[in-house]
Amino acid sequence: MSEANQGSSLFPNYARYPIAIVKGEGSWLWDDKGKKYLDFVSGIAVTNLGHAPHRIKEALVKQLDELWHVSNLYQIPNQEAAAKLLTDNSCADAVFFCNSGAEANEAAIKLARRYHQKIAETGRYEIISFYQSFHGRTLATLTATGQDKVKEGFAPLPEGFKHVPLNDIPALEAAITDKTAAIMLEMVQAEGGIHPVDEAFVQHIAKLCKEQGILLIIDEIQTGMGRTGKLFAYEHYGIEPDIFTLAKGIGSGFPVGATLAKGYLAEAFGPGSHGSTFGGTPLATAAVKATVETIVGEKLAERAADMGQYLMGRLQDQLGAHPSVVEVRGKGLIIGIECTEPVASVVSEAQQRGLLILTAGPNVIRLLPNLLVSREEADLAVTILSSIFAERTAAV
Ligand code: PLP
Repeated sequence: MSEANQGSSLFPNYARYPIAIVKGEGSWLWDDKGKKYLDFVSGIAVTNLGHAPHRIKEALVKQLDELWHVSNLYQIPNQEAAAKLLTDNSCADAVFFCNSGAEANEAAIKLARRYHQKIAETGRYEIISFYQSFHGRTLATLTATGQDKVKEGFAPLPEGFKHVPLNDIPALEAAITDKTAAIMLEMVQAEGGIHPVDEAFVQHIAKLCKEQGILLIIDEIQTGMGRTGKLFAYEHYGIEPDIFTLAKGIGSGFPVGATLAKGYLAEAFGPGSHGSTFGGTPLATAAVKATVETIVGEKLAERAADMGQYLMGRLQDQLGAHPSVVEVRGKGLIIGIECTEPVASVVSEAQQRGLLILTAGPNVIRLLPNLLVSREEADLAVTILSSIFAERTAAV
């Protein structure tokens, strides 16, 4: 066992920081020694409403008193209501609930294949996705992921996956064959370094998909639920995916995933075709319902757009001209600061100064504040980051 994991009964699969967070409220976290942190990680885009949001807590506590789990053998009114809210507020007509992002993408891949095999009867099965993408860690979703590091040691991988460079129309066109079932992409590649996809590329994909009977799958697991300034990031582009996936922020911290699709795909998931014991429990979907109602009712996507513009502007002002900053980019409240060198030490220094941030690849700082973050909190984060960068310049 590695030194870092000494004394732990857990697998050493996470490189954890040596801090234990024990309490959270709004944008703030406290560790077991009482130190307070401003949280610009949000559990990696999960606690979009901040920590312990009152309305979600109330919904969960009420449901805890009534019923936790019954199985999908029975009608689950909360699941129906949560699905209706999601379809009323998106281009989708049907929802499948599961427990994580990887599971939601796994279901999306299965749905695309099954549609082509059972409904359209084209026999197509191939999924085209993009280099630097991240779609999860099940065997199919890590195969769809465009990063070799998540695949190492897991061969043989499932067949029927291809990768092309993002924003490269000729490469995409060359990869399409009569076996192409779906094209799968993130609107902002998140784990891959905060790369928003080009508008023209998205429009071209949507057109190709329509012309050639290929399904468009959008992975909204990190970008969905208001984070980019729209409820779902695909709305920025005026397109409608055939399938899109959600997880992370959909339950405000309660583990839930969802695969959403157009009505013409619904029959592909007939009785017995797919399922999950814990998918859409009364408890999980109480969290989804309260979360969607809050984000839509309180116009938090619009708020994220405004705050994102503010924060991005402040970061560009304060850090944009720094010699080690290449670019500040993002959409709404998913922001990346690309640097000329690895940024792990910036994350550690920020932690010491009471600010939690994360990376997106070795050279990119990733900021994911909650959608209710205040200007004062945004200013504080900018001040801490500016001081770290200024001290670095002074030290050179
Ligand atoms: N897709 C995207 C875009 C993600 O960012 C992630 C997680 O980071 C996943 C899929 C996988 O989600 P999960 O970790 O819940 O399985």
